[in-house]
Amino acid sequence: TATLYVVATPIGNVTDISLRALHVLTLVDAIACEDTRNTSHLLQRFGIHKPLVAAHMHNEREAAQAIVQRLQAGERIALVSDAGTPGVSDPGAKIVDAVIGAGLRVVPLPGASAAVTALSASGLINDQFHFVGFLPAKAKQRETVLNGLRTVTATMVFYEAPHRIVDCAAALAAVFEPTRQVVFARELTKLFEEIHRCPLSDAAAWIAADAHREKGEYVVLLAGAPEATDAGDAEAERILNILLAECS
Ligand code: SAM
Repeated sequence: TATLYVVATPIGNVTDISLRALHVLTLVDAIACEDTRNTSHLLQRFGIHKPLVAAHMHNEREAAQAIVQRLQAGERIALVSDAGTPGVSDPGAKIVDAVIGAGLRVVPLPGASAAVTALSASGLINDQFHFVGFLPAKAKQRETVLNGLRTVTATMVFYEAPHRIVDCAAALAAVFEPTRQVVFARELTKLFEEIHRCPLSDAAAWIAADAHREKGEYVVLLAGAPEATDAGDAEAERILNILLAECS
């Protein structure tokens, strides 16, 4: 039956593709992808030959309409992005939205996502995370976004474009306490994978210690603000009780 399969692909190591993903990519009528060269390269590795449809940031709305029409004609289509999970800091959400809007079936195929991969090996102990994704490139806007995150108690997850990690670390150090733990997850699943945890105050020195660290794909995790202590809550309750007594 007509279905849009949202298929996660590897974020580095090609063998991270799932057996189910390979099966679905083999059975669909076409694959909608962010960059046809990238996806044909991946498919070649597994001997899969399929018609590819470009569905990137600049044509996502039109691509969504074309995909809806093909599904309405009974086709099965897979949606992939260049790396990881479509729709997570990648195109895909508008297509899924249009397909749901047309009353058609969407089936997700789970797989790699850089955020969850980094979190799983971070050792940061927190049940909650706050996905920020890419920060604005402009310093002023970046500062505004970071200031708005100062009281977030969940672990924060940032994606950083290659070549911008030095600026990112400096921007974090300018806004958050130097004792906050930060995790740099670099080149995950690739040959030069590194996962380093340190207080924010040591971040710049860690990056500077190896010239390779100034580039590469990074997920940056930042520990959340400490939760309000029980002592603080008890004090608030004491004052509230005094006020309530005054009111009665
Ligand atoms: N859709 C992808 C996902 O599910 O994670 C994210 C795509 S986003 C355009 C690319 C960003 O993800 C990179 O700039 C980097 O922050 C992060 N990323 C992707 N692959 C990575 C890897 N192998 N190691 C570290 N970070 C990675």
